[in-house]
Amino acid sequence: MNAESKVTAEHLRRSAYLYIRQSSLHQVLENTESTERQYALRRRAIALGWTDEQVIVIDHDQGQSGASATDREGFQRLVAEVGLGQAGIVMGLEVSRLARNCADWHRLLEICALSGTLILDEDGLYEPGHYNDRLLLGLKGTMSEAELHVLRARLIGGILNQAQRGELKMPLPIGLVYTEDNRVELDPDSQVQHSLRMLFATFERTGAAWATVQSFRREGLKFPRRGQAGSGEVAWRELGYQMTLDVLHNPRYAGAFCFGRSRTSKTADGKTRIRELPRDQWRYIKQQAHPGYITWEAFLSNQQRLLGNYRGNGAPRRSGPAREGPALLQGLAICGKCGRAMSLRYHERRGRRIPDYVCQRQCIEKGVPVCQTIHGEAIDEAIGQLLIASVTPLALEVVLQVQREIDTRLAEAQRLRLQHVQRLQYEADHARLRYMRVDPNNRLVADTLEAQWNEKLRLLAEAKQTAEQQHRLDSLQITEEQKEQIRALATDFPRLWRNPQTSDRDRKRMARLLLEDVTLRRDQDVFVQVRFKGGAARELRVPLPQRSCDRWRTPPPVVAEIDRLLDHHSDAEIARILNERGVKTGGGGRFDTVKICHLRYYYRLKGRRERLQTQGWLTVRQMAALLECPLTVVIHWHKVGLLTATRFNSRADLLYQRPSDDVIAKIRTRLQPHRWRAPQPPLNPQPCIKGVI
Ligand SMILES: [Zn+2]
Repeated sequence: MNAESKVTAEHLRRSAYLYIRQSSLHQVLENTESTERQYALRRRAIALGWTDEQVIVIDHDQGQSGASATDREGFQRLVAEVGLGQAGIVMGLEVSRLARNCADWHRLLEICALSGTLILDEDGLYEPGHYNDRLLLGLKGTMSEAELHVLRARLIGGILNQAQRGELKMPLPIGLVYTEDNRVELDPDSQVQHSLRMLFATFERTGAAWATVQSFRREGLKFPRRGQAGSGEVAWRELGYQMTLDVLHNPRYAGAFCFGRSRTSKTADGKTRIRELPRDQWRYIKQQAHPGYITWEAFLSNQQRLLGNYRGNGAPRRSGPAREGPALLQGLAICGKCGRAMSLRYHERRGRRIPDYVCQRQCIEKGVPVCQTIHGEAIDEAIGQLLIASVTPLALEVVLQVQREIDTRLAEAQRLRLQHVQRLQYEADHARLRYMRVDPNNRLVADTLEAQWNEKLRLLAEAKQTAEQQHRLDSLQITEEQKEQIRALATDFPRLWRNPQTSDRDRKRMARLLLEDVTLRRDQDVFVQVRFKGGAARELRVPLPQRSCDRWRTPPPVVAEIDRLLDHHSDAEIARILNERGVKTGGGGRFDTVKICHLRYYYRLKGRRERLQTQGWLTVRQMAALLECPLTVVIHWHKVGLLTATRFNSRADLLYQRPSDDVIAKIRTRLQPHRWRAPQPPLNPQPCIKGVI
């Protein structure tokens, strides 16, 4: 069947659609020849019988990739037109590339077959309704996708190989550059190097990215950035938060080559999604691949700190002014369970106001139960003690030492600022020279150069002013007299803190000068984490306050001692022993038999008699039964010393130790002569042993 015979009058009645696409903008601009070929198809359609007006060109998708139909408006329109039976023929260059993925292509073929639409490309004319043509078109689509896959696999394989060796040339962050022979080196520009070192040192000192940014702003320091791509220029701007995080998270500054730190995937609607991966899932890490600004260990520790800041309450909070009321941690307390600021509540006890720290934000906003409530008295006391213990001569000496280090740091910052001034001076001189060299008659160029020169001069003046201002501020150093005052604090501070004349508000202000925040978490006791202004942290455990019922309770060690004494002593004896030792009851009183008896009952301690009986001691009746003799005889034998007995209460009641089998036999023999003379007396209680059961 030749091409012409496939075209019927029905086809010619409908329109011819020419689909034109170049996948990237670069192709659209550069590869005009292919566009030319695509338009040549139009002439073929006319040759086949369509009129010029019938040919509709769809070229909305120029510069769109063919990987998915989602964003390709033109392709969707084409499918719609074919589905509605408007298209007699669809034309495209290498038609299988109309759709770069097989699903879209087969769908189009299906619809073309149903609506009897022809397909035309440079190789020929196809009728998708015919089996052979359909097979060929399907195969073309599959080949096209396979070709794409092979191309990509080769490309990625090459990249991965290079990456595995750590030789893949990737864009470097500021501060690192490639040498002529493709090795990575630190940027030879010393100002850039200093700025990066300054950033890492500041983070090391402050422990927070946000604090690093603030420090740079305060010092009036600029941070380098890459200028326009390929220009090799460095732009100096204010350091931003995201920039700081990028630098701190970038392993290349630790001299490590990394590849595959993120993964790209497609969402259901065809959008590209980039996901950062955790470090253990990176594809390749090669440590010590090139020189860096920090060590790998320092990099890891920075990551840990950043993660800690993220989880903790790193964001600056406002604690509000110090108010009346004794609660020391007003505005400083943070809930250790949810990280929210804790509020205050007071309760009265014996005419005193006692603070409670309450985490109730969620309770107020969402009606859920209060997160935690912590009795504040003991916490405030512990914090007070900690503050007094912290302001020691040694601690203050450390402060002065730190001040000396700060001075060195300030000198370093000033050096960086002067370098910046120097650089701008050079640029201004350079701009002036260029202006001087230009032909004054060439007004257009001369004006532009003059404007550039002026701009450079303005920047220079600004930088000079900032450097001077900062230098003036920095040079307000501590005098010897002030140092003496600081040392005197070690004795003054505890005195002032303990002085009853010092108001609660002043004490709170002092606490705020020293403390950043205090995190409280209630378990069996209260776990207190104190952060000082300088970044130091201390952890304390404060026992929970006693409930009022617990205050009357006999202390557990005393109960344990009573339990131990019961093994050898009666209640009355124990009361006497404890009183002799000066031990007091829970209420602060003396012990007596009744109290010991109550305690035994309350704590379910076994009494003296029970304990003896478990050990095998016998009552008089049991003993009489054992020896097969009257009760009086047992008492008699005890009196003469043949049987051992002990008192188990304050009365004269006795328990008998079970004699050995020899003794039993001996006693029984002695009893023999009497047995036939006197009959066994009844087992009724007798006056002398009354009370013994
Ligand atoms: Zn909470």
